[in-house]
Amino acid sequence: MMKRSFSENTEQKETPAQQRQVRDHEKTLKEMTAVECVHCSDLEDYYKDTAHLLTLNYDLMKFIFSTSAGSKVLSPGRLFVICHMAHRNSVAVLLRSESPPKVPAVTLTVLVLCSENMVQRNAGEGALLPLPVHELSVPQGKLSHEIVNIAPTDVLYITNQRLALKDPAAMLKPKPPLPGGKKRPEEGEADELTQQLMVIAEKMNQKDEVTTIDPKKDLKILDLDFAEKWSQYKTIKDRLRTYECLGCPDLNAHYGDTYVRKSLHDKVQKLKYNLSQQNLSLLPEYEQRIRVLQRLMYVDHDRIVQLKGRVACEINNCDEVLVTELIFNNVLTDLTAEQIVALLSCMVFQSKINDEPCLTKALQEGQENIIKMATLIGETQMECGMTEPVDTYLETLKFGLVEVVYEWARGMPFAEITNLTTVEEGVIVRCIVRLDETCRDVRNAARVIGDPLLYKKMELASELIKRDIVFAASLYTA
Ligand SMILES: [Zn+2]
Repeated sequence: MMKRSFSENTEQKETPAQQRQVRDHEKTLKEMTAVECVHCSDLEDYYKDTAHLLTLNYDLMKFIFSTSAGSKVLSPGRLFVICHMAHRNSVAVLLRSESPPKVPAVTLTVLVLCSENMVQRNAGEGALLPLPVHELSVPQGKLSHEIVNIAPTDVLYITNQRLALKDPAAMLKPKPPLPGGKKRPEEGEADELTQQLMVIAEKMNQKDEVTTIDPKKDLKILDLDFAEKWSQYKTIKDRLRTYECLGCPDLNAHYGDTYVRKSLHDKVQKLKYNLSQQNLSLLPEYEQRIRVLQRLMYVDHDRIVQLKGRVACEINNCDEVLVTELIFNNVLTDLTAEQIVALLSCMVFQSKINDEPCLTKALQEGQENIIKMATLIGETQMECGMTEPVDTYLETLKFGLVEVVYEWARGMPFAEITNLTTVEEGVIVRCIVRLDETCRDVRNAARVIGDPLLYKKMELASELIKRDIVFAASLYTA
C-alpha cells in the first residue's frame, strides 16, 4: 500500500552490488530462449498455474494442520499423498504426529512407498517448486519404503482413507538387522504396509482419482480466507487437465527449462523490488505518508502492519485508505448491496459533469458520510506534513454516476439508464466494469476483517451489476 502510493515518484538510485546482480541476471535471461515446441504453446500458462497451485496448497495445508479440526485427521494410519525431497507424488501412511516444544508446526512421521534402488538425492533449492505431476509415483523394480519426517506443507492430498496399524511406535525405533535376514514383527508390518500402499497407488492411478477429504464438510473449516483459497485451488486444479502441453512427450525437460528461466526472472524482479524499496525510504514524502498511516493506525510505531493495513492491502483498484476507513467506521454496514456499489462509483468514475443526479435519502446520507470521511483523511494528511489541500483531495471523488449505477444495480435496462445522464455509454460501461473489480476488493477486505455480511453484500453487488450489455460489450472495454 505504502509502496503503491509512491511508485511513480521513485527515482532509481544505484545500489551498486545489487544493481550489478540485476544486470548480470538480465543478461543471462536474454540469452535463454523460451521453449520452442509444437506441443508446448501453453506451457508458460501451465507453469504459472502449477506454481500458483503449489503456493495455494502450501497455505491450505498450513492452515488445516494448525486447526483443531485438522489435528483430527492426524491420527496414525491416515493416508496422504506427499511431495518431499526425492519423494514426489508418493503415497504415504502417517505413523506419528507430534508438536515438539517451542516449534510452532507439527512434524509428521510417515512411511512412504518407494523402490529399493531409488536414488536418494538432495533436491536442494526449488525442489518443491512446481513439477508437472498428474500421476502418483509407482516404484519400478523391487518395492521398498522409507520412514521420513515431513512438514504438513509437504502433504499434497489428505485422502479419506486410513490403514489399520498394529504397532506404529515399534516401526519408528531404528534397530540393527537380525542375523540371517530374519525380520522383527514391526519390520513385517512395514513390509505389509508397503504392499498395501503399492496396491492403493496403482488403483488411484487407474481410476485417475485421489479421493480427498473436504475441509469444509469433513473438517468444518469455515474460515472465509481459507474458503476463498480452497475454491481457487479447485478451479486451477480442474483447469490443469485442459492444457495441451500435457501431450508433449518431452514435457519434463521443457518444463524444467521453463522453471529455470522463470525462477531467474522472479529473482530479478525481487532484486528490483528491494532496490526500489530502499530508494523509497529516502523520500521525505514517504516519511510523511508513514506518519499518516501511523496516525490512522494502519501501521504501529515500529511500522508493523496492523489489521487496517492488511485490509487496505486488499484494495487495489481505488483509494485504499478511504475504502478502509469506510469499512472500519461502519459507513457501509447499513446500506444495501445496490447502494454500496452505487456509492463506490465515486472513486471509480473520473469525469466532472454538471448533471443534477436525483438521489434517494440513503444515498445522499452515504455521500455525505463519504465526504466526511475523506475530509478527515485529507486533514490528517495535511497535519502530517503532506501538501495536498483537503479540497483538492475531495475533488478526486466524483459522485456523478451514483444514481446511474444504483438504478443499474436495481435492474433498470441499459437503454433507460442512458436517459438519466449525459455521460457517454462507453464511459458508463467502463465504470461499471471497473466497479466489479472494486466490489471484489471490498469483498476481500471484508474477508480479512471477518465480516461475512459485508462479504455477501459485495458478492451480491458484483452479481447485480454483471448484466447483459455491460459485460458482453467488449467493444467498450477492449
Ligand atoms: Zn514440449
